[in-house]
Amino acid sequence: MTKKTDNEEHEELVLEPEGFRINLFKKFPLIKKFAKLKGFQFFLILPSLFIFYIIIISGLIGTPLGNRNIAIVVLWILWWFLLIAILVPLLGRTWCAMCPLPWFGDLFQRMSFFKVRTGKTNYLRNKMFGLNLTWPKRLKNIWLPNINFLILCTFSAILVTRPFVSSFVVSMMLIVATVLAVIFRQRAFCSHVCPVSGFIGLYSKTAMLELRSNDKDVCKNCTDKGCLRGNENGWGCPWFEYMGKLDRNNNCGLCMECVKSCPNDNIALNFRPFATETTLKGYDEAWKGFIDVGTSHAYSLIYLGSSGILKDWVNPTQSNNWTGFFTYVIILWLFSLVVVPGIFFLFTSLSHKLANTGRVSRMEAFKAYSYILIPLGLLAWIAFSVPLLLVNGSYIVSVISDPLGWGWNLFGTRDFQWHPVIPEYIGFIQIALLLIGLGYAIYKGFFIGQRLYNSPTAAFRGLIPVAVFSTVIALAFIMLYIG
Ligand code: SF4
Ligand code: SF4
Ligand code: SF4
Repeated sequence: MTKKTDNEEHEELVLEPEGFRINLFKKFPLIKKFAKLKGFQFFLILPSLFIFYIIIISGLIGTPLGNRNIAIVVLWILWWFLLIAILVPLLGRTWCAMCPLPWFGDLFQRMSFFKVRTGKTNYLRNKMFGLNLTWPKRLKNIWLPNINFLILCTFSAILVTRPFVSSFVVSMMLIVATVLAVIFRQRAFCSHVCPVSGFIGLYSKTAMLELRSNDKDVCKNCTDKGCLRGNENGWGCPWFEYMGKLDRNNNCGLCMECVKSCPNDNIALNFRPFATETTLKGYDEAWKGFIDVGTSHAYSLIYLGSSGILKDWVNPTQSNNWTGFFTYVIILWLFSLVVVPGIFFLFTSLSHKLANTGRVSRMEAFKAYSYILIPLGLLAWIAFSVPLLLVNGSYIVSVISDPLGWGWNLFGTRDFQWHPVIPEYIGFIQIALLLIGLGYAIYKGFFIGQRLYNSPTAAFRGLIPVAVFSTVIALAFIMLYIG
């Protein structure tokens, strides 16, 4: 269903299909009933809090053998796969609705499990506890999450082999999230610090789920603004979002407070096509895309490749090769922060030159086109994660019976043998996933070009270098995977 309109140069623009929207609240009223429950988030968080508790404990006192300890197996095989391959592309930031890390901070600020507290705190109509300071303006972006993510990636080999380290990092995140909630308003940690936040936020732009205002005109005339400010029915948005203007998934943690606090019943939970949102707001988001492509390349090389030297470099606690480790750190950071964006800049500059419309600057083209790294990067991460689950998933079965690696046999599955699933097909699955990512990158790249240059011909010309760049990236992944 492609619509056509005239553009200013009398050339017909091929408008991007708007895509369907199915309001799940209307279609399945039970979902809305659940979202409206005061204990909605509590019920989601409780099971994950229990699992995190087990992860922290088993990291501290369980076996140091990674594949025998539930902390490593559940966190870095099961959770990671579910997050990147299922939750984010299908359900956006749903993980953030069930994540236990900010829960103690929320609890402190609200001093309540279920009851919504009315009162006045800054612009909010809820009584909040803590210092309620404003987060520094300079840090109101995702540069800090970008750097924190890169730091986690740098130490990933230690994280995924040493249960104690994983447990320590998770505990530290929980503590920092709580301390920041005592000092700053709402979820400062989630919005501006959490290393996973930028990752989930950016890729949730592709998600097939969105929470939006049903009718923006109703919002314009609404004097209550309960979604943002809260009221007796719900807390003000912990992510500082105002539903009347919300058009991106990046910063909506799907906590469903606005569903409760909107007096006009004006919130819809929409099912929509994959990769619907195609705008990036700042260079922090563009660089998140570069970091994700850079680190996923590095991970594929390290964890799925056969280079013994690299494996030595990334885990100096085992190899004692600190020179190798520092070399790896320099290469990883330079590659992700400078080389990938630098090459991308060259390609988008060429795109800008070929389009030759003079409508936008080179930097605008660079920023807008960097969106294509999102579908490409997401599918690359999924392709990377598929063998993690298919090859090592059998460890999940055995650690469930023996979570600490102490020889227990709770459910009789402790001795389940390591058993890779369909290893002969993994390469094909990875190639298929990468081709899907590449297809989306090129397809969306065309419409981004039209938005930039206001002409399908210019968009087509401008797309060529961008498509070449995406293809080279996808081919590099494919070569890594099929060796
Ligand atoms: S942003 Fe990070 S800490 Fe916050 S809910 Fe999401 S994953 Fe958890
Ligand atoms: S409270 Fe409801 S109607 Fe009012 S601005 Fe928010 S979403 Fe719109
Ligand atoms: S807009 Fe805010 S209140 Fe509504 S679900 Fe998203 S994060 Fe929660």
